[in-house]
Amino acid sequence: LTKHFPVRRGLRQLLSRERTAVHAVDDVHLTLRRGRVVALVGESGSGKSTVARLLAQLYPRTDGDIQLHGETTKVKGGKAFRSYAARVQMIFQDPFASLNPVHTIRYHLTRALKIHHNAGKSEADLENALNELLTRVSLTPPERYLDKFPHELSGGQRQRVAIARALGAQPEALLADEPVSMLDVSIRLGVLNLLRDLKERLNLAILYITHDIASARYFADETLVMYAGRMVEGGDSETVTQTPAHPYTRLLIDSAPDPDRLAGDVDAAEEDRGNGEPPSLIRPPSGCRFHPRCPMAMSRCSVDLPIRLEIGDKPGHWAACWLYDEATVKEAAK
Ligand code: SF4
Ligand code: MG
Repeated sequence: LTKHFPVRRGLRQLLSRERTAVHAVDDVHLTLRRGRVVALVGESGSGKSTVARLLAQLYPRTDGDIQLHGETTKVKGGKAFRSYAARVQMIFQDPFASLNPVHTIRYHLTRALKIHHNAGKSEADLENALNELLTRVSLTPPERYLDKFPHELSGGQRQRVAIARALGAQPEALLADEPVSMLDVSIRLGVLNLLRDLKERLNLAILYITHDIASARYFADETLVMYAGRMVEGGDSETVTQTPAHPYTRLLIDSAPDPDRLAGDVDAAEEDRGNGEPPSLIRPPSGCRFHPRCPMAMSRCSVDLPIRLEIGDKPGHWAACWLYDEATVKEAAK
C-alpha cells in the first residue's frame, strides 16, 4: 500500500508545476489472519494510522492492493464494498469523538445492527442482540447502559461501546487505532484483555496500532515497526521486542522507561523519546529514511533504499537495514 497526500500548493509551485505530496505510507504490506493480533508500532507521524484508514477504505490508496480472502477489494460504493466494510471494522483512538453525543448507546448499537444485518429483526430479536453486544464487552447488566448517552459513561466504558458497535457488524477483522492510548492508565489493560478475549471467542483478526512497543509485546502475536511511512522491521512479537534488529526499533525500546510495564506512563515515554525528530515526509531523506538519526549509518545508507533482509535464526524475522547485508558491512569497514 502506498498513500501520498497532495499538499496545497502556492502560486509559485502551480506555475512551476512542481508537485508536492506527503509520502505518508510507502510500500507497506502486511497480512492479517483470524485468531491473531498484528501490532503496527511507530511514533506519531510514522503513517501507522494511515495504514489502518487505507485498510478500512476511508481513504483511496495511491497505489497497491487490498485483498480479502485472496480477492481484490472494490473501491468505495456498491454491495461488495458494503460487505467489506462490515467485515473489516475500525476502532478509533478517541471513543468520545467516535460516538455521537446526542444519541444513546441503544441508538448507536441498533444502527450498527441494522446497517449491516437488516434481516427484518423483530423487537424481541433486536433487544436480545443489543443485550448480547453489551454483555460481550462486559457492560452488564445491559439495561443499565442502553439508554445512557456517551457523556454519562467513563472513557473505558465508551471504548467498550465502540467495540460493541464494531461487533454489531459481525466483523472478521478489527482495525484498532491506538484503542487504549486515550484511556486512563489503570484501565488500559482491561480493554486490551477484552480485545484479546474477543479475538479468541470470535476468531477475529486484529490490527493493533500503537506507539507503545511494550504493549505490542504483551498483546500481539506479530509486531511490525514503521518509521517515516515505511516498514523497517517485523517478526513475532517476542523476537522483535527481545532481540530487535533495526536501529530504530532499538531506539524505540531503549526510550521506553520500562519494557516490562504496560500500565506505566506511556505518554511520558513518548515525549521523552530523544535522539531527534521524525523527518519531513514531504521530502523524505534519501536512501534509508532513518539515516539522519541512525548511530550506525554507513555511506551507503543515505543513497540506497534498504531491502528487507532475513535476520538470524528466527524464521520470519526481517529488517530493512544495510547492517544485515554482509557485503555492505565489509565495504563500510574498509
Ligand atoms: Fe541505520 Fe543504515 Fe540500517 Fe538505515 S540502513 S537503519 S541508516 S544502518
Ligand atoms: Mg495516529
